[in-house]
Amino acid sequence: MKIQGLQKVTLLDFPGRVACTVFLAGCNFRCPFCHNASLVTHIDPENDISEEEVLMFLKKRAGVLDGVCITGGEPLISPGLETFMEKIKALGYEIKLDTNGSNVNRLCHLTEAGLVDYVAMDIKNSPEKYGVTIGLDDYDMENVEASAGYLMQGNIPYEFRTTVVREFHKRDDFEAIGRWLAGAEKYYLQAFEDSGDLIRPGLRAYTREIMDQALDIVRRYVPNAELRGI
Ligand code: SF4
Repeated sequence: MKIQGLQKVTLLDFPGRVACTVFLAGCNFRCPFCHNASLVTHIDPENDISEEEVLMFLKKRAGVLDGVCITGGEPLISPGLETFMEKIKALGYEIKLDTNGSNVNRLCHLTEAGLVDYVAMDIKNSPEKYGVTIGLDDYDMENVEASAGYLMQGNIPYEFRTTVVREFHKRDDFEAIGRWLAGAEKYYLQAFEDSGDLIRPGLRAYTREIMDQALDIVRRYVPNAELRGI
């Protein structure tokens, strides 16, 4: 497992929790709009943080923080993740897991082992455009669809979220995503932001007006859908 970031406090990322965020390097997707390219395509061993350092931090913050967000990269490809989560749980923290949904078996296993309290799963685009949107042509969506289906069965609190990028998302895609996620508990549309650490620079966000139109489309299927960070 390669830990390459520790954000010491966040009030926004884990609903109802004062949390910190641990960033794990490595991802099996290559989303051009990825805002953490340094955790995906330009991994620098110089940025490694030891597991002990993170656990020591969590011990000191017990009672101040109550949640840990584990994000990436894609955490579910990290070896040693389960043991790391067990150690975090033993310190009394709740865990939020961010995932691209590409490993349904591991998602189910960690959830059923009681190691995850909340899941945020990316929905990259309509099924038809998934491969191009994650930078992998001919991607087989079986795992992603199974992960979304698993969460929608209500096994654990969750949210779906889509980062909306002008170059990738069109009206028909929001229709298709809406049909796919119909009945989901929580779904957020987030406007793309250029972090300066992208896999493919030069991408653009939509205006607020277009984001509102996209929201109207998905709300026909997911009435609770919201815009976030706009
Ligand atoms: S956006 Fe997420 S899933 Fe896509 S390449 Fe970056 S870390 Fe991986």
